[in-house]
Amino acid sequence: MENSNEHWQKQDRNPFGYKDHRPFSGFSDELVYGIKPDGRIAHVSDVLSGLLCDCRCPACDLALVAKKGPKQLHHFAHHIKSVSCSHIAETNAHIWAKEFLEREKRLTIPPIIAEHEGQKEIVSPARIYTFAHAKLEKRLNTIVPDVVLITENGTQLIVEVRVTHACDETKVAKLRSIGLSAVEIDLRRFRTSTKQAEVEDALLTSGPRDWLSNAKQAKFDDRLRDRLAAEAAKKLRELEDRAKRLAAAEARRVRSEQMEAQRESARLIQAVRTHKGDLNQIPDRISAFVEQFHDVPWSHPKTVGFAVHPLIWQADLVKELITFPNALDYQWPEKISISRALRTISRHLVPDFRRPLAAAVIAKLRDEWPHHRVPTEAVELFLDDLAGTGFLWRSEAGEFTVTQEYADRLSASERRRQEFESRSEDLRHRINVILARLPASELGSFDLDRWLTMRAPGQKADPTTLCRLGDDAFRDFDRALKRIELLSEGGPVTDEILGLPLSEEIARAQLRAREKLLMAASNRRLSLTQAAQLELGEDANSWLSGPSEDDDEMSWIDQAGLDDLSYQRARVSLASAAVVRRAAIRARNEASSRRNELRQAASKVYDEQHLELFLHTFHPKFGKSPFEHCVNHRTMQECIELLPRTKRTKIR
Ligand SMILES: [Zn+2]
Repeated sequence: MENSNEHWQKQDRNPFGYKDHRPFSGFSDELVYGIKPDGRIAHVSDVLSGLLCDCRCPACDLALVAKKGPKQLHHFAHHIKSVSCSHIAETNAHIWAKEFLEREKRLTIPPIIAEHEGQKEIVSPARIYTFAHAKLEKRLNTIVPDVVLITENGTQLIVEVRVTHACDETKVAKLRSIGLSAVEIDLRRFRTSTKQAEVEDALLTSGPRDWLSNAKQAKFDDRLRDRLAAEAAKKLRELEDRAKRLAAAEARRVRSEQMEAQRESARLIQAVRTHKGDLNQIPDRISAFVEQFHDVPWSHPKTVGFAVHPLIWQADLVKELITFPNALDYQWPEKISISRALRTISRHLVPDFRRPLAAAVIAKLRDEWPHHRVPTEAVELFLDDLAGTGFLWRSEAGEFTVTQEYADRLSASERRRQEFESRSEDLRHRINVILARLPASELGSFDLDRWLTMRAPGQKADPTTLCRLGDDAFRDFDRALKRIELLSEGGPVTDEILGLPLSEEIARAQLRAREKLLMAASNRRLSLTQAAQLELGEDANSWLSGPSEDDDEMSWIDQAGLDDLSYQRARVSLASAAVVRRAAIRARNEASSRRNELRQAASKVYDEQHLELFLHTFHPKFGKSPFEHCVNHRTMQECIELLPRTKRTKIR
């Protein structure tokens, strides 16, 4: 046996009889241990071949033959071939474990855990168990012999080594019933390992292990159960004590609250009775406000704690919450809570009612004044009424916000109001500007405020109403006013004066218009004269005073003074006169230069005396002298033809 370790290593084997490297190849496991007639365990490597081995099977006790041929790895087989002996791997494992533990005398055992109704507690941690002796023993009708560890004082611990099969349930039940402790060490993971140290360490320490049965388990469980029960009982007692203390404290608190409520309500009742103030008085400004917001659900609830008539605090709430301050692009900075609403109107409360009232106090007040509402209730009722009529919306949390529809409505009306004010102010300013330009004597008894409410002839309504409407009628009015502004700035006469004191201004405008006409006529005459002088030069005056083509009773200069159209006709006529004059000047220049050429040509043929004779003597061919005939290139050539030929050639 001493050299068995060397054997199983060298031949790719391990103590479980493994000889195949493929996983799950347990079918080919073969027995490697036998039992000698003297009870000694013998490894197949330590016996003679065949029946000479003289060994029996450790599991079934039948005779074995040692197969030590040259082809297969050495192993034992049953002499009677038909016998099938199960759990050979476990048999090998148990025999090896017994041998190894016998040498080591120590084994790590799992922690002991007590359990009661799902609660677990470690009784002792995993620890190293030392023993005096290890033996193999078959008991409880098992086939594979158990490894049994025995301590000095005779305590026994069974060790099951799991290589393929788990220890069967009936065996576990039996172990428990007879009070034997057993540990199962799971070495399945090491079934194919051929590393000796690894497998040995797995058995002693590192392999997973658990109690199959612990002789003292029931004792530990009971102890835990008792302890848990004692703890639970203690906790229950504590809870009961605490509940009693709380109940006593609550009873004291309620008693003290009731007394406080009694005192507080007596004080409040006294405060209401002695409060000086007229609950029926409604100031005119409140009446006017209520009238203005006639669609608000104003109400007259029976209340206690207010110092004024309900309409007064309701009007304050409406003013604060749903009117003008934020009307344009309506945005609420915060939600409206009942307490915020109460703060808003706290000055209208009897002073003692300005802080929150306890429910018990309210109940006492109700006993005194049935069907009356305290301020919180009255305010909530009013806010609810506002919600019921579409001004507010109440959230689940009991807070109020302004409804979008009402906010839009309010924004639109506020925008209209601002536009009206801006138009009114603008109108007032424009009228003042017009009036400021008039002499004070012409203002008479004119009253602007009165004028703003009077309908002027031809207008659809009075100026204030027109400003409010801002429609087409207002725009007609605005255009008429613009013409008046022009008149006031020295512009033309207008026939609509909108009831303003402008009759003298109109007369002045008419005078201005006449002067303007005269000035225009004078300007036109001056303009025509200047144009004629530019175009006709020295002929200008005779043309200007000459008869016009339109009316021969009238000269051109007179006609230009009449009006713009006549002036334009004079300018057209002047333009054609200028064209005629320019053509005549051009012809005169042409004739002058041709005659100079003719004179030069003739001077080459004639001396000075004959030259003058040639030029100025009447020639029958032209009916006039050559000088008179020569006005252009063609007539100049005709004159040159008259010169003697020989001399003419020389000229060329
Ligand atoms: Zn057997």
